[in-house]
Amino acid sequence: MAKVFSSNLGYPRIGEQREWKRALEKFWSGKISEKELLEETKAIRLEGLRKQKEKGIDLIPVGDFSLYDHVLDTSVTFGVIPKRFQEDDTRTQLETYFAIARGTHDAVASEMTKWFNTNYHYIVPEFNESKPSLKENRPLSFYKEAKEELGIEGKPVLLGPITFIKLGKGYEDKEFPSIVQEFLPLYIQVIKELKEAGVKWIQIDEPIFSTALTQEDLEQAEYVYETFAKEIPEINIIIQTYFESVDSYETIVNLPATAIGLDFVHGNSLDLLSKHGFPKDKILAAGVIDGRNVWRQNLNHQFGLLESIGNIVDKERIIVQASSSLIHVPVTTESEKTLDPVIKDALSFADEKLDEIALLAKGFGSGKEAILLEIEESVNAIEALNHSDYRKQTDANPAGSLNTDRKLPFKERISIQKEQLQLPLLPTTTIGSLPQTAEVRRERLKWRKGDITDQTYEEYIQSEIKKWIDIQEEIGLDVLVHGEFERTDMVEYFGEKLDGFLVTKFGWVQSYGSRCVRPPVIFGDVSFDKPMTVKESVYAQKLTEKKVKGMLTGPVTILNWSFVRDDISRFDVLDQIAAVLRLEIEELEKNGIKIIQVDEPALREGLPLKVEKWNQYLQRAVNAFKLATASVQNSTQIHTHMCYSDFQDIFEAISALDADVISIETSRSHGELISTFEENTYDKEIGLGVYDIHSPRVPSKEEIKANVNRALQTIPVSQYWINPDCGLKTRQEAETIAALKNMVAAAKEIREVQ
Ligand code: GLN
Ligand code: ZN
Repeated sequence: MAKVFSSNLGYPRIGEQREWKRALEKFWSGKISEKELLEETKAIRLEGLRKQKEKGIDLIPVGDFSLYDHVLDTSVTFGVIPKRFQEDDTRTQLETYFAIARGTHDAVASEMTKWFNTNYHYIVPEFNESKPSLKENRPLSFYKEAKEELGIEGKPVLLGPITFIKLGKGYEDKEFPSIVQEFLPLYIQVIKELKEAGVKWIQIDEPIFSTALTQEDLEQAEYVYETFAKEIPEINIIIQTYFESVDSYETIVNLPATAIGLDFVHGNSLDLLSKHGFPKDKILAAGVIDGRNVWRQNLNHQFGLLESIGNIVDKERIIVQASSSLIHVPVTTESEKTLDPVIKDALSFADEKLDEIALLAKGFGSGKEAILLEIEESVNAIEALNHSDYRKQTDANPAGSLNTDRKLPFKERISIQKEQLQLPLLPTTTIGSLPQTAEVRRERLKWRKGDITDQTYEEYIQSEIKKWIDIQEEIGLDVLVHGEFERTDMVEYFGEKLDGFLVTKFGWVQSYGSRCVRPPVIFGDVSFDKPMTVKESVYAQKLTEKKVKGMLTGPVTILNWSFVRDDISRFDVLDQIAAVLRLEIEELEKNGIKIIQVDEPALREGLPLKVEKWNQYLQRAVNAFKLATASVQNSTQIHTHMCYSDFQDIFEAISALDADVISIETSRSHGELISTFEENTYDKEIGLGVYDIHSPRVPSKEEIKANVNRALQTIPVSQYWINPDCGLKTRQEAETIAALKNMVAAAKEIREVQ
């Protein structure tokens, strides 16, 4: 018998019912004070800690909590504050923090981008702007808080220097070592103070180790961790990796630290372990419960996995944990009161995963007999769902003989479309959603509760559509949208309408800042019930002479932003979704919709971390998009849209989608994207977002003109569209109208000089 430790890497910040989001938004709108915000969020944080303790987790993370983003927390801790936010000295520290994330009337927010292959977004550190210095020891204050308030001996979590610096910008590759050198003493100070306060264990997150690193980077990693070991030998450091197996296994596991954390759910860590072994003097923190999915795990399998690991590493040297932080899954299935028990029983959110972790640790330490009953329960729950009617489709992949190529190549169909659509040069449009006011949300809530009838709700949605068709005409936009007022979220909406999906009540996860998404759960075979978007699109089109774009979420995005069943291949699920969207697109076309946008904002983020897996993913993703869109007439124009990303890597795939028009979020990556188009020729139509929609700031006409003119130096004017960065649903009406007016005015002025 041995005591095997259980550990958690990070706990959801948002509270069981998104209390966190509400507190933040109340503060931003001036309804509560800074003090009240701090009190409310402290209560949420302590509740999470209390639960972890109650569930018997041995190593409870502290300092993983955040009021916006943990990368931004790290930046601010080290005084990495862009100059444009340093000038106003009337701001409190917290106001500066939010200013960097959200922008102010006179300073654009820092860039925001996706955290590895997840839908969580972090704020990109800007390193060229200020000399770093330690501003506050955040992990230390959280450690003290947990100890004082709950008697928890927490494990502070730090974002590791290699990952932190690699994720930032404002320096050239060759400057990497000198930046590391700048931060090293600051990290050492933080860790020393932790040690002095009595901390035994710290977790240093280095997810960048799961991506491909250069020899130079690895040398820096060795240098950093050797320095830590030399300067602060008395503290137990866990170097934590996740989301994939590590690339340079032998270097990473031999870094000087007490423990190395590896992901045994994604990638091939077990093979690497079997092949190369594990240092005798180290502890292996083994991520055996999936931190990225919502399914209960077959504890028999996971126990077997632990045994296989135990064949190579002494049991006493193994820590049982999830594969990653649990911020990527909802808080608890307890809140879901109305699910079919067959499904609910097969689900596991953060709190339930902690139970699974604690259980496995117990069983692994004291013998399998101790947990036989629970193992059996997990196996039965999974079997029950697998054998249910929900998973009956014999042929998992419906793609079969469906064509994936448009009837004519782009060059030929675009002239047919131009002829038909009669749009001006540099057509203006928006990305789809228009402001969702409190009133829209209130009406939807009333309808959900049954306080108003379907018909009343539908009439209300129609009145919003009509109001905004009029506004768009008045503004002078060329291609209109219906506004997506009937949708809370671009994936959830489809999840509610399709068979095989379920939408939870409180299954929220943080996406960026206070914004949370509620990914639908794909639990069974996906099939088409009835048209999902035709009514609203057709209604909008009847109100205007101008063209209204049909608006759908693409197959890759639906897949990537859902929690996907894990009993068949994700690619088969992808094709099931694509086949269903194809039917929807055919319905829209049949009903007179001439332009159909199929959004794929998640295409880039779904890219596997391992380069050797890219080809297969991209090929299947492109194929699914084409499967969904290829059956339309040549005259029907297919649009797609993508959010901020690094497009260099997927340029060919984007082109291979064969969409007639693409819009891409650009303005916040400060023009970097345009260089991609300098190096590659793109022959289809394109709109690079001309203003940032994440900030309430109204862009001036001149600013928009400058953005367009910059793009026109690279992209031929005949191919170019003018649109905002992304959907406008989070914006207020007045600022949206003002911004779009400036955008249309800018387009008109540029047209005149062409
Ligand atoms: N059509 C969607 C909207 O406008 C696109 C959102 C997105 O790209 N994330 O809201
Ligand atoms: Zn977008």
